[in-house]
Amino acid sequence: MRIIRTRQELHQSIKSLETGSIGFVPTMGYLHEGHLALIQKAKSENDFVVMSIFVNPLQFGPNEDLTAYPRDEKRDLKLAEEQGVDILFLPNVSEIYPVPLSTTIHVEKRVDVLDGEKRPGHFDGVATVLLKLFHLVMPNRAYFGQKDAQQLAIVEALVEDYFLPIAIQRVETVREADGLAKSSRNINLTVDERKEAPIIHQALLAGKKCILDGVEDETTILAEVQKTLGKVTKKVDYLALYEYPSFKAVTDFSRTLILAIAVQYEKARLIDNELIKRGEENA
Ligand code: AMP
Repeated sequence: MRIIRTRQELHQSIKSLETGSIGFVPTMGYLHEGHLALIQKAKSENDFVVMSIFVNPLQFGPNEDLTAYPRDEKRDLKLAEEQGVDILFLPNVSEIYPVPLSTTIHVEKRVDVLDGEKRPGHFDGVATVLLKLFHLVMPNRAYFGQKDAQQLAIVEALVEDYFLPIAIQRVETVREADGLAKSSRNINLTVDERKEAPIIHQALLAGKKCILDGVEDETTILAEVQKTLGKVTKKVDYLALYEYPSFKAVTDFSRTLILAIAVQYEKARLIDNELIKRGEENA
């Protein structure tokens, strides 16, 4: 595995791959099995896998957890190597943002709900860094987790808008045995919060069941979810149902829907979702 920290070295390294397809896995590090699933899918579909680890300051709000975001480069290097990553790109902030931007990327659609609404500017930061990374890596395919479904839909639109010749590949959410979605932020949960957190997924499944059983009243569905969430309801940042991937209000319950929850714990904000399509086990 080549460990690369500069744009210049990355350019040389990518050039030296000459022929062969490139699968790209952008991450913020502190790797877990969710990230590893992206690497495995990328490996199975490409000749080379490039992974980036970059905690992008542009996508964190002023009161968010940029400094508390967990990091462990040594462990990440070992895991990436074991998984067979070919090139690991670990730039520092000045490598990605050498000068203040003259041109900014602003996401127009899908940002009036969920994390777009709760984290103003977050998806502008995500789209900006991905556009930069896509240009540096020039991958054939790029891999994203369904856990961040709003990000996934926004990246698909970015690629379509700017004719980027990159196929965006979705990977299903990898979970702990008790259903909690794997996340780098789980390490910042207290013992009690960690015990409680699997209820988020249980609540999503209760809502999903309601919809698959044919309930078409949003208030009833969300009440069912809240019933399962119990006392966690007090910590809920959002709980909502939309059509997917438009993130518009539901007008037709036979379409693909997304049921999404964010919970703000003391030092970790957790998000999770279920994609739901009536008549299909997995949307
Ligand atoms: P992050 O390092 O949290 O920015 O995540 C990097 C990529 O891994 C994103 O595409 C995420 O959606 C994906 N990812 C994070 N957690 C999971 C998970 N539990 N299952 C599948 N993919 C995930």
